[in-house]
Amino acid sequence: MSKKRKIIIAGNWKMNKSIHEAEELTKGIKQLLGETSEVDVVVCPTFTALKSVGDIITNTNIKLGAQNMHWEAEGAYTGEISSSMLRDLYCHYVILGHSERRTYFGETDEVVNKKVKAAIAGNLIPIVCVGESLEQRESDQTKAIIKDQIEKSLAGLGEDLKKVIIAYEPIWAIGTGLTASPEQAQDVHAYIRGILEEMGGTDVAQAIRIQYGGSMKPTNADELLSQPDIDGGLIGGAALDANSFAGIVNAGIEK
Ligand code: PEP
Repeated sequence: MSKKRKIIIAGNWKMNKSIHEAEELTKGIKQLLGETSEVDVVVCPTFTALKSVGDIITNTNIKLGAQNMHWEAEGAYTGEISSSMLRDLYCHYVILGHSERRTYFGETDEVVNKKVKAAIAGNLIPIVCVGESLEQRESDQTKAIIKDQIEKSLAGLGEDLKKVIIAYEPIWAIGTGLTASPEQAQDVHAYIRGILEEMGGTDVAQAIRIQYGGSMKPTNADELLSQPDIDGGLIGGAALDANSFAGIVNAGIEK
C-alpha cells in the first residue's frame, strides 16, 4: 500500500562543487532520475551553480532548490539573495533554518519564520529544518525543542501552513554517519504531525510532508522511508554522488 503523501527526496549540496562539478553531477542525476515521477526529486546546489544546474534539468521531473534566502524583497543586504531572485532562476524550493545556518550564522526561529513567510509569498516551497542536538536528546529535551522550533518557525502562517515541507534533522546525525533509528525518527515525525494538527487541523497535518535528514543513504533509506510519518529525505553527503542519490530516490518508489 502506498502512502497518502508523495515521497520527496531533496539533495542539499551545501558549499560543495564548482560549477563544472555541479554540471557533471547533475548530468549523472538526470540520466538516472530525469524521468522519475513516482517521487519528487529536488537538487539544491550552491547559488553560483543554480543557473547551470537549472539549465540541465529543464524539461525533466527534477526540480531546483536553493539552500537559503533573505526575507526582504530587495535592498541594502550585502551578500544576500531574495525569493524573486531565486524564482528568476526557476527555483521551486528553498531550504530554510538548516542547523548549519542556525549554528554558524545565528539564525533564530524568528528569522526562519520571516524567511518562511517571504518564501511562500514569493511562490517558493520552503523546506523548514528542525532538530535537536545530542545534548538535548540525551537530556530528554527532544520533543520540547522540536515543538518550540515548529511553533515559532511556522507561526502566523494561517492557511499557508499547508504549503510547507518540514525536515526533521537530528543535529547529531548530520554528516556524522549516525542515523536515527527508524523507530526514533518515526517517533519524532509522528510527534511533529501532532503539533501540526494542533496548529492547522487534521487535513493540513495529514497533507504536510515531513522529511528525515541525517546520514540517509541507499542502505538505510528503505527502512526509514517505510515509516508511516516519514515522507522523504533531505540528503547531504549522499546527494553528492549521482548513484547514491538515485539509490535513495529509488528506495522511495512504491512507498
Ligand atoms: C543535511 O545536512 O541536511 C544532511 C542531512 O546531511 P547528511 O546527509 O550528510 O547527514
